[in-house]
Amino acid sequence: MTSSGDPPPTRKRVAVLGSTGSIGRNALAVAAAHPDVFEIVSLSAHRNVELLAEQAARFGVRRVAVGEATPRRPFPDGVAIGRGRLALERLASDPGVDLVVNALVGAAGLAPTMAALRAGRTLALANKESLVMAGELVGRAAEAGGASLVPIDSEHSSLFRCLRGIPRTEVAGVVLTASGGPLRDIPASEIADAGVDAVLDHPTWDMGTKVTVDSATLVNKAMEVVEARWLFGLPFERIDVVLHRESIVHSLVRLVDGSFLAHLGMPDMKVPIQYAMFYPDPPGGRFDDCPPGALGTLHFEPVDFDRYPCYGLVLDAARRGGTSPVIAATADEVAVAAFVDGRIRFGEIADVIAGTLSAVAPGDAPDVDAVLGAEEEAREAAGHVVGRLAAAPSQ
Ligand code: MG
Repeated sequence: MTSSGDPPPTRKRVAVLGSTGSIGRNALAVAAAHPDVFEIVSLSAHRNVELLAEQAARFGVRRVAVGEATPRRPFPDGVAIGRGRLALERLASDPGVDLVVNALVGAAGLAPTMAALRAGRTLALANKESLVMAGELVGRAAEAGGASLVPIDSEHSSLFRCLRGIPRTEVAGVVLTASGGPLRDIPASEIADAGVDAVLDHPTWDMGTKVTVDSATLVNKAMEVVEARWLFGLPFERIDVVLHRESIVHSLVRLVDGSFLAHLGMPDMKVPIQYAMFYPDPPGGRFDDCPPGALGTLHFEPVDFDRYPCYGLVLDAARRGGTSPVIAATADEVAVAAFVDGRIRFGEIADVIAGTLSAVAPGDAPDVDAVLGAEEEAREAAGHVVGRLAAAPSQ
């Protein structure tokens, strides 16, 4: 209580989970551009503690979460350090936080998503695994906590914006655009042996390692279909994917009269990140002044799903429901790490997903514990599949 009649502080207090990754760094760039709007109060990183310490110093942050085995160095005294899942959940549900940006990679994002929503925090969600692994539970937690969940994924941010103010009776479905990823133009016969450098060289988007590999397998798009299913309450049959090489149209809403609504812009993740961070207020700043002529020529084509065997594996698992999508998403995470480490070939990512799905019996997913139990089991099984593939003589 101030005696001088000062207005109460109105800045949004923000926790950025996964602050050293691509999305996290962009979220901090948005906050730095609007210091009157955002106050960064906590950060987390799994491995890159040097950058995390630098970010904590730059934003005056006193609470961080790190991986289980991280040493105290390089953090100065006065910074409280938590470790592991519990620490992430604490930051996500902290009463001193208004907005949680969940930019964690993989299954680790689920527990903090649930913690933030149950506590009624606004959640800007980049971690798609939260919705893939436990979409229904996430939706229920948001409802129970009265929380807003705003997507950061560019396609879903666009749909979120297009769908605002349109009566649902006018919406026939949604269409996600796919760039086709880094391997879209190489001959199908060469895909299985694509190298790490080629796979990480995305034609339109500058993103983190996991999501870039997932773009090359189209697992990313399968996960985005599942995300859309839960974010917008649409059955799978009303969610389509179209190949759009330029990544200028971020998504389309299909209306009942057969026409479409689209949201266009340069492929820059700061746009959806900023939108989610300002929500429900209008976004604060303009990044690129894009003359309409610079949008160029736009192409749309059907996707050749035969080039992308992982897409069907992940989407079919999601359609089966229960813990099947948990198993598929976890297997993909393990497989992508093994590919980036040079342990398996690109084409074997699909083998790891398929092998894990047949090794682990799916079950119901009534709560987060069941989801995380299935995740643990799938992680172990996927590790075995990777071990077998890595030990096999290369052809
Ligand atoms: Mg996306």
